[in-house]
Amino acid sequence: MRAITFQGVRRVACGEAPDPGIRSDRDAIVRVELAGLCGSDLHVYLGREVGIDPGTVMGHEFVGRVEQVGAGVRGLSVGDRVASPFTTSCGACYYCERGMSARCVSGQLFGWVERGAGLQGAQAERVRVPLADSTLFPLPDDLDLPEALLLCDVLPTGYYCARMAEVDSDGTFAVIGLGPVGLMAVLAAGERGARRLYAIDTIAARLARAEALGAEPIDAAHADPLEVVRGATEGRGADGVMEAVGSAEAARLAFDLVRPGGIVATVGVHHDRGFPFSPAESYDKNLTWKIGRCPVRSLMPEMLPLARAHRRELASLFTHRLPLAEGTAAYAMFDARRDGCLKVAFEPWPCR
Ligand code: NAD
Ligand code: ZN
Repeated sequence: MRAITFQGVRRVACGEAPDPGIRSDRDAIVRVELAGLCGSDLHVYLGREVGIDPGTVMGHEFVGRVEQVGAGVRGLSVGDRVASPFTTSCGACYYCERGMSARCVSGQLFGWVERGAGLQGAQAERVRVPLADSTLFPLPDDLDLPEALLLCDVLPTGYYCARMAEVDSDGTFAVIGLGPVGLMAVLAAGERGARRLYAIDTIAARLARAEALGAEPIDAAHADPLEVVRGATEGRGADGVMEAVGSAEAARLAFDLVRPGGIVATVGVHHDRGFPFSPAESYDKNLTWKIGRCPVRSLMPEMLPLARAHRRELASLFTHRLPLAEGTAAYAMFDARRDGCLKVAFEPWPCR
């Protein structure tokens, strides 16, 4: 089959990869109809996240149709339309039962094969899904592919971030980083009633999108977010800060922006070994810091009303829809944010 594979830092290729097959009774094979390119793929592409084997199929966001099921799969049939969370989950362990599917004891991340072990990714014609019954989410007919693709990661991650920040209509809140994840945090914060919501980035088009979603934009290249937010809160800082970047600089800004006793909610993926602020500074702020991978599968059912209510905003995140053959150029464009690129969807079967 055709697939986009990791070849080395800043090197991906579209070429032939082995077709996946059923390996366990609980596997399904999904024929991918749309696959996303995500800020998380950039961590691998840019070499910030290391350990992945060259040749691994990239990507972890996909919607498609079930093409084959293992003998132990009960709730899915060939032809079913499904969306997949970016990690697999058993639905029955301690964590799955508590809404923490991202920490399922048998969970695996799509698009991560290390020393031969792990799961191939979704930027491909087909993908093997272990624990298919509890991982895959059957899609209602009324959701189109682009909205459905955002259920796999970006929408629930933004929602999770706003939930962790305990956004409400009384406080002052800020989102740092207005990629697709940060924009979905803005949207989710609005849904939670946020009335004073700042949105921070340096890219004009993304700031404009956040503004259209109801936030007050702060262009960090031209204004000091600390001055703006403190100025609006009698010097205190924000009640909650949502960080959707994944860099020490952004984490430090989040720490500086939050008021004493406030919450920083981080969904940006971090690779550093230390925090960019000290335990002493945290103590002096009575800080609550929440961070981690979004439990997408646990949240998927809650996402349907949100996706239905915001179809237009969701679909408009996709600035590019490309065949897999454009993979190399798409990664370079997405990384450089050229051509207004915000979110890319790959169509593995463009002639369909
Ligand atoms: P993206 O790369 O498209 O967007 C990041 C945005 O942050 C860009 O607009 C950039 O201009 C802005 N930015 C960078 N540094 C900044 C700074 N110091 N201050 C303000 N803005 C800054 O990425 P994305 O797809 O939106 O993903 C965002 C982050 O979320 C990534 O780290 C990704 O890996 C992570 N992520 C986490 C989860 C999870 O489960 N926790 C899920 C999906 C994505
Ligand atoms: Zn993603």
